[in-house]
Amino acid sequence: MKNRLRIDRSHTEIVPKSTIRRVLKFLKDTDLEPPYLVMDKARILSRARSIGRKIRNSKVYYAVKANPEIEVLKLINKLGAGFEIASEGELALLLSIGVEPSRIITSNPIKSFRFLRMAAECGLSYFAFDSKDEVRKMRDHVPGSNVYVRLTVPNEGSEWPLSKKFGVELEEAEELLLYAKKKGLNPIGITFHVGSQCNNVYNWNSALDKAKILWDRMEQAGISLSVLDIGGGYPIRYTKHVVDIQAIDRNISSLIAEKFPRKTRIFIEPGRAVVGDAGIFVSRVAGKAKRGDENWLYIEVGVFNGLMETIGGIKYRYIVEGAKHTKKWTLAGPSCDSFDVIDREVVLPEPDIGGLVLILSSGAYTISYASEFNGFAIPKTILI
Ligand SMILES: *Cc1c(COP(=O)(O)O)cnc(C)c1O
Repeated sequence: MKNRLRIDRSHTEIVPKSTIRRVLKFLKDTDLEPPYLVMDKARILSRARSIGRKIRNSKVYYAVKANPEIEVLKLINKLGAGFEIASEGELALLLSIGVEPSRIITSNPIKSFRFLRMAAECGLSYFAFDSKDEVRKMRDHVPGSNVYVRLTVPNEGSEWPLSKKFGVELEEAEELLLYAKKKGLNPIGITFHVGSQCNNVYNWNSALDKAKILWDRMEQAGISLSVLDIGGGYPIRYTKHVVDIQAIDRNISSLIAEKFPRKTRIFIEPGRAVVGDAGIFVSRVAGKAKRGDENWLYIEVGVFNGLMETIGGIKYRYIVEGAKHTKKWTLAGPSCDSFDVIDREVVLPEPDIGGLVLILSSGAYTISYASEFNGFAIPKTILI
């Protein structure tokens, strides 16, 4: 496949040059018909290895929902990392590639009955919770399990805030851990999530402050905790510069050393940061139109078959095959639904019909959200 993709610094500051180079080489050699998602194995591995390296006594549990592609899971599995899951479907995927249940945790505070039954059969033993009802469910289905309570923490400055859906305040958290113990579960710790794509480092500071207060209160109440699960939230580059993961980890590491006992086990649950910038969607331009004074550009990947997060405000950067001069475009997906608009006022080169559009940093929360709405297939994932 010949191409004339225009690559410049605005692209290489988002995704590593090495990843772009590998994808271009792949495009040159393949005759596979787009759309598809290309994932750079080397990038996934280097991210999975580096997250948490600066945090003593920590272990990474990859959040499977970010990208549950089986080849991605196999790759991460080879590193001996753990996995964070929420459902029987995710559990089945991990079991199918031979992940031991001891490396799987569940931080979804509200679990389905079907999942709990399957978790019990497999011997999963680490679960988050944030209500008495959930304690009773776990007592009935997974008695004696290790449980950690989900605290609400500030999500300001996260592009994908989560805090209102789950979590409890300090008082209730304390009560819940005591209640869990009374019901025969093993209350081992605290978890939180600062919000996905978290650009605000202070969210980790306030979260750790709050967790510390609960940790000490539990000690006074006669329960010694041993696990601090700091969730996910590490940001990746989409169109803007973000705080470096190493810098975030240095900050977290020094706060933990200052506040928590030396032997505390730290669980980290990154999703987006492991796979996000390793992925590049390859699509074709299906059409162009001038409607009023708007230039519309239609591509083969849209809101419903991969770019769902654009609805919540995530913006991507594109590499376009086309002429040199640029225009402002309204970028739309292939379906007939008016929700299927990916971005507005994007400045892009005038593309060729049938030409390629590459969508950078699209390895996380894309295929995992995709549907076959309107008959448009979910793009295949190819690891290179
Ligand atoms: C989604 C999720 C994660 C991963 O979050 P990222 O922002 O993708 O790192 C981690 N833990 C829990 C409980 C989640 O729900």
